[in-house]
Amino acid sequence: MNKKEVLNRFSHLEKQFQELQQDFSLLKSDLVQLMEENHQLSHENHHLRQRVEDLTQDEPAKHEHKAAKRVGEGYDNLARIYEEGFHICHVYFGTPREEEDCMFCLKFFN
Ligand SMILES: [Zn+2]
Repeated sequence: MNKKEVLNRFSHLEKQFQELQQDFSLLKSDLVQLMEENHQLSHENHHLRQRVEDLTQDEPAKHEHKAAKRVGEGYDNLARIYEEGFHICHVYFGTPREEEDCMFCLKFFN
């Protein structure tokens, strides 16, 4: 085995390593997005279950009270996700914000 061959194999391996690193970082951002979506869907599921529960009850006063509380919880969850650095707007929902405020997201807080 000559020097040139060793160098060639080395740069080939280096390239493969770089490609692996790229795949890893793509996978990582997909994972973050999936976790946020999962989180959001769990909450939505929870809220929908409560809604079904409310609809099967027939006490109007209790129903209104619960509905108001749910809106508050939904708002808090979105505010928390936004504070953690993710978009909550329909345009970029679930993607990282990279420390910048988003005017679409901020509409939620007005
Ligand atoms: Zn946004």
